[in-house]
Amino acid sequence: MRRRLTKLVIFLLLGVVLNVAVAWGCAAWADIGTDYTEGISEDGTASLLRWSSNIGTLIYFERSRTATLNRKMRGSRRMDELSPYWLHLDVPSAAYQSGRISGENSFTDARGWPALTMWSEYEWPAYRQTVVVKGGLPLSSRHSVGQLYFWPPLPRALPLRPIWLGFAFNTLFYAAILWLVIPGQFALRRHIRRKRGLCVACGYDLRHANHDACRECGAAIHLQRAVAPRIEQ
Ligand SMILES: [Zn+2]
Repeated sequence: MRRRLTKLVIFLLLGVVLNVAVAWGCAAWADIGTDYTEGISEDGTASLLRWSSNIGTLIYFERSRTATLNRKMRGSRRMDELSPYWLHLDVPSAAYQSGRISGENSFTDARGWPALTMWSEYEWPAYRQTVVVKGGLPLSSRHSVGQLYFWPPLPRALPLRPIWLGFAFNTLFYAAILWLVIPGQFALRRHIRRKRGLCVACGYDLRHANHDACRECGAAIHLQRAVAPRIEQ
């Protein structure tokens, strides 16, 4: 029972590692493409551009009191259809609500496969020529999207903020794959060793052995089927 639990925890941890590795790999190397969909809020004061592919989503969001920016987007889709559940764009910041600022924007980069699993954010401090990455580790390479539409160009970043539902889903997904693949590989290795007359636990040649146990690892030869560990690492 305890061994099973340990095994379950190990596979879940490996699932987390693989999930993060895939999301970061997507963030570092994969291109989302340059085609976007645009949406506008019902009152016309907020708009959103969304670039999407299987491995990531980039979202540029803008809210403005003057709303002149958004007029050109009339006839596009509704913003709430395009904004993901984990980004709460419907709630303006305190500074905007109090009237201290007349507009706000955000640029979000979410990654992961099969589900989006983590995200980071970009910020342009006023009058500065650099983009600040929030909730992510900036890399030296750039987005293809940013180079076409935004200045200064957006650096790629490894996202650190979890999208919990996607994170849990991907973790279980990768843990399940490993659960299926890893024991299968060890079973195959044991089978091959047994056929070749090798110790199933360590691979030592037993063909001329006249002991009860493997001289290399001590595994009992006549009991190897029962004692060979299922995961040998
Ligand atoms: Zn052995």
